[in-house]
Amino acid sequence: MVPVVEKPETPVGPVAALVDGGEMDCGSGLLLLITRAMRRLDAGQLLGVRSAQPSVVTDLPVWADLVGHDVAAQVGETADGPWWFAVRKGDAAGREATVFSQGQRTPVGRRLWVYTNFDCNLACGYCCAESSPRAAARHLSPDLARAVFAEFRALGGREVFLTGGEPFMHPQLGELVDAAHGLDRTLLTNAMIFGRGRRRELLESLPRSVTLQVSLDSATPDLHDRQRGAGSWARALEGIGLARSLGFRVRVAATMYDEDRAGVEALHRRLDADGIDRADRLIRPVAREGFATAGIHVSIDSLEPEPTITADGAWWHPVAVTNPHLRIADAPLPVAEIFGVVRDTVAAQDAATRSGREVFRCA
Ligand code: SF4
Repeated sequence: MVPVVEKPETPVGPVAALVDGGEMDCGSGLLLLITRAMRRLDAGQLLGVRSAQPSVVTDLPVWADLVGHDVAAQVGETADGPWWFAVRKGDAAGREATVFSQGQRTPVGRRLWVYTNFDCNLACGYCCAESSPRAAARHLSPDLARAVFAEFRALGGREVFLTGGEPFMHPQLGELVDAAHGLDRTLLTNAMIFGRGRRRELLESLPRSVTLQVSLDSATPDLHDRQRGAGSWARALEGIGLARSLGFRVRVAATMYDEDRAGVEALHRRLDADGIDRADRLIRPVAREGFATAGIHVSIDSLEPEPTITADGAWWHPVAVTNPHLRIADAPLPVAEIFGVVRDTVAAQDAATRSGREVFRCA
């Protein structure tokens, strides 16, 4: 939830809504909260913002100037904070239109990530989603998926990534995949549980236009099994082989800490030998999110937006679905509102880059 507290009077008039950012700074999520709240205000109305972060005293006026708002008042509870700000909403509609005019990113609205569920047969040490056999499933329902994908298609969406948890643990996965018809569909899986029984039947029934993205962290079992559990490497390879034999395009994604990157070339050689195209390989670092206690720090400034929905909310990026600072909505619908928050934020980032001003700093 956006933390909105009692609406006080300010020296410049009453505020229409108030956001309490606590210890958040502009880089760690405060601007997402403000952007969400601002979208509900009319031009000229005031948003009250409270923050205990000294950097916000500098960064908030810069952000406001970049996006066409105005910090009309600022009051410190003490000389060292916390601070209250009254931000008057401007007419920023013209600025939003400049987003992606330089074509540097995937346009917001083209791609959508969807968490089908959060339970998983594995409990990997670096899992950003905190998935495990004991995690609450948080199933996305087929009805909700149909509504989300219908709106996404109507908005011009093209591509969807279905992830989890392990999607093959969702009892209605086939309906979810079907609900995304007409879109480029990629299904992320550890490839370990679809070899037999009804999951095998489901796999065989999926359209071959669906791409399977399978996690494989190393050329040999050592690293993969250390990160993902004993025996998981062999079963992942078995699953990759099965999926390819059934005619699926398989993309391989490896996740590794910096200190393990010496194994990248061996992994490439292994995938060369297996005939996995170079374009179907993804090597990515561990993000310090979820279960991971090490890895790269992520923020709205360091992560290109990849709007992501779950059964109960929306986030800036799929690696950040356990990070309350990167939550952008409290429900997966309407999709247009989610894209709107991301576009407004990206417009501010682009404006900051063009002007050479820093605003999304993490303290
Ligand atoms: S990283 Fe993937 S396979 Fe591992 S626990 Fe998380 S969702 Fe499951």
